[in-house]
Amino acid sequence: MPSLRCIDCHSEFPSATRIYTCTNCAGLLDVVYELDEFRGERMMSIWDWRRASPKAADQSGVWRFRELLPDAEESEIITLIEGNTQLWDAPRSAEYGGLERLTFKHLGMNPTGSFKDLGMTTGITQAKRLGATSVACASTGNTSASMAAYAARAGMKSFVFIPAGQIALGKLSQALDYGAQVLQIDGDFDDAMRLVREIANETPIYLLNSVNPFRLEGQKTIAFELLQQRGWQVPDRIVVPGGNLGNSSAIAKGLHELRERGVIETLPKLTIIQAEGANPLYRLWQRAKQTSEARFEALPHAFTLATAIKIGNPVSWPKAMRGLRWANGEVEHVNEQEIADAKAIIGRDGIGCEPASAVTLAGIKKLVAAGTIQPGEDVVAILTGHVLKDPDYTVNYHRGTLHYTDKSGQHIALQSHYANAFTQVPAERSAILNALAG
Ligand SMILES: *Cc1c(COP(=O)(O)O)cnc(C)c1O
Ligand SMILES: [Zn+2]
Repeated sequence: MPSLRCIDCHSEFPSATRIYTCTNCAGLLDVVYELDEFRGERMMSIWDWRRASPKAADQSGVWRFRELLPDAEESEIITLIEGNTQLWDAPRSAEYGGLERLTFKHLGMNPTGSFKDLGMTTGITQAKRLGATSVACASTGNTSASMAAYAARAGMKSFVFIPAGQIALGKLSQALDYGAQVLQIDGDFDDAMRLVREIANETPIYLLNSVNPFRLEGQKTIAFELLQQRGWQVPDRIVVPGGNLGNSSAIAKGLHELRERGVIETLPKLTIIQAEGANPLYRLWQRAKQTSEARFEALPHAFTLATAIKIGNPVSWPKAMRGLRWANGEVEHVNEQEIADAKAIIGRDGIGCEPASAVTLAGIKKLVAAGTIQPGEDVVAILTGHVLKDPDYTVNYHRGTLHYTDKSGQHIALQSHYANAFTQVPAERSAILNALAG
């Protein structure tokens, strides 16, 4: 039976306890499993066999790995057959980043278009096991889209707290379509997060932000599925965007568990990339290189056009630091210009992604140039969200109108180095032929 364990004071709680953080010290909780005989070859062969099984729980790229997931009867599982996302090689992106080859694992190919589905199937299933009838989250967009869909599948009410005017239209439209009650908060993500936590503590509404350890359990299967797709061959490095730091923490936990169970011997290097304007982990990591007494400091006004990672006070930073230690980690940050150009290059590979995902390629380019990543390394970068999530950003880039206002109120126009502008032509055959020839 899995249980909940505090990462700071190691207090343990039954996994059916309705808590989100440690009741002794307020530390983050892990779902932990007994180290039983399910390991190594046996584990790999059962998990491989299930890929060909027609059952929903086997087809799901999360529940296929259920021996290392929270308990759930198959009839209790709320699934949209998530996971099973592609690994794609990306030659143009590799060249741009300075690598000989580069693989993307595109989690934007999940049912609601982001990796949040992997954590939501386990989160909503746990909500159901605890008898919850309503769920809530604060969100920069993708969590709300995903939660709304899974809550609808489970017949639960869902409440979404979003920062007013700061979420991409594709994501908002999903939450509305899936029937969530959407509350626009006059504040930023960090305000919305604080409020939803207070409300979940005072009401029967079950909280589904990534402070909830059951969500991270689903997300850790990114590591399982990625290795399974590679015949359990470990890459040299996994590169992942960092916002609230749930995903990077979850991937590290998944890798760590595979090593404990003898499936892999070494962990790939874990590299987390943040946006420069929303880089509290990067800052902490730099300070931690200087002194063992480095302390975490939240950023009061996080900014980036990559709204999915516009977070100044990431809840999972202690787990991310632990993951970086387990996996010989590195943290880099990239600016708005670097993100915008990298996104366009990923598009040119015929892949595409939302802005937050593109920090991976931008970070790789920077780290190869700095000599931290070797050009011959076998790198897998995690693309977190679908290109259609934020069409405004993409169209503005290609039109040359992508811009923002910085902290000092200064207007900054980004350069569209890889713009693919559209051409205006009169509705005449000869004009069109001219345009095609030009
Ligand atoms: C949520 C999200 C992120 C950030 O993931 P964290 O777990 O919060 O670090 C990055 N990209 C996309 C598209 C997301 O939806
Ligand atoms: Zn504790």
